Amino acid sequence: MTTTAAVLVRGADVLDVDAGEYLEGNDVLAVDGRIAEVGPGLSAPDGARVVDAAGLRVLPGLIDGHVHVTAVTADLSALPTWAPSYVAAHTARVVRGMLERGFTTVRDVGGADFGIAQAQAEGLVSGPRVVFGGKSLSQTGGHGDVRGPGQRATEEPACCASLGRVADGVDAVRTAARDELRRGAHHLKVMAGGGVASPTDRIDSTQYSLEELRAVVEEAEAANRYVAAHAYTARAVNRALEVGIRSIEHGNLIDDRSVELLLERDAFLVPTLVTYWALKAEGREHGLSADSWAKVDTVLDAGLGALERAARAGVRIVFGSDLLGGMHRHQAREFRIRSEVQPPLDVLRSATTVAADLLRRTGELGVVAPGAHADLLLVDGDPMADIGVLAEPDRHLRAVVQGGEVVVDRR
Ligand SMILES: [Zn+2]
Repeated sequence: MTTTAAVLVRGADVLDVDAGEYLEGNDVLAVDGRIAEVGPGLSAPDGARVVDAAGLRVLPGLIDGHVHVTAVTADLSALPTWAPSYVAAHTARVVRGMLERGFTTVRDVGGADFGIAQAQAEGLVSGPRVVFGGKSLSQTGGHGDVRGPGQRATEEPACCASLGRVADGVDAVRTAARDELRRGAHHLKVMAGGGVASPTDRIDSTQYSLEELRAVVEEAEAANRYVAAHAYTARAVNRALEVGIRSIEHGNLIDDRSVELLLERDAFLVPTLVTYWALKAEGREHGLSADSWAKVDTVLDAGLGALERAARAGVRIVFGSDLLGGMHRHQAREFRIRSEVQPPLDVLRSATTVAADLLRRTGELGVVAPGAHADLLLVDGDPMADIGVLAEPDRHLRAVVQGGEVVVDRR
């Protein structure tokens, strides 16, 4: 692998996401993977690669705050029976697709481990930087328990390519949390309520006792990490927030109290609307069971209303997609769905600055500013006028720079 010393992107309108405006005719100089300078008429150091971006707009690389890079089939019960090496090969293709859609960083909330993060960091795999949480913690019969009612044995957690692991009781939950932290997790993920792609739970169930949830939060905080919780209903969301969970995943069925708590606790909401659309349209052909497919309706229509309610109140909202298997290709469609209730700039912030805040990487990711990772999108079109520009990367995304290297080039 070659390390690029310097790249100069010349003559573009550079988006300042915080200010919500373009700096016209600016250059961006990246040195050793980081942005060194932004301004007009910068001179290229010796040996720098010069990228002419006249007429284009430069945006920070996007962050998807809710993905499962190892969910290479929608049949999550089958995944643990696949060879991990085979899953890894599929994962390489999934993450490359994300990069080609402009995502230079993703937060994996179930499935990814230190291996895929390391492979990406070393350049063995071309894809977004992977911020991972290891396996989701689930109670028996919870959203991370993929067994049908007739199956008994659970797999040993480290053995297989599963998105979750089962642990019951305060002690076991603590051990599982510590084990994921031992394996390098940047955050922990718990299943705090029922879900769609799980065979034996109800969407309106709460999962884990308050004592168990508290134990996970305690373990995360002891390690200076935080907890993300899968939860749809107000009942599940509100109890998760009350015990100190920092990021609510999905939240399609929240109420006014949920919004109050999100604000009070300075927590984040990560809606994932595109996945319900995709599951309804194509889930069956990608391996989703008939029972799971029938559950999609409960959350499909409510999702947009929940986003609107939270956005209006000023909740910190992060971009998420949550796609499985062959449906990953719809990732960028999330931009279009959100624009039905949010202005383009807010949607952009959810995939850049606000997502960086969630990752505790403020100023390092999601901005085009000195000191940040040199992750840049060269875009033909104006996403502040029409966010749909980001929903069609094949047409509008001319190039992607990641860590100061041109990794996608459609010019
Ligand atoms: Zn998910």
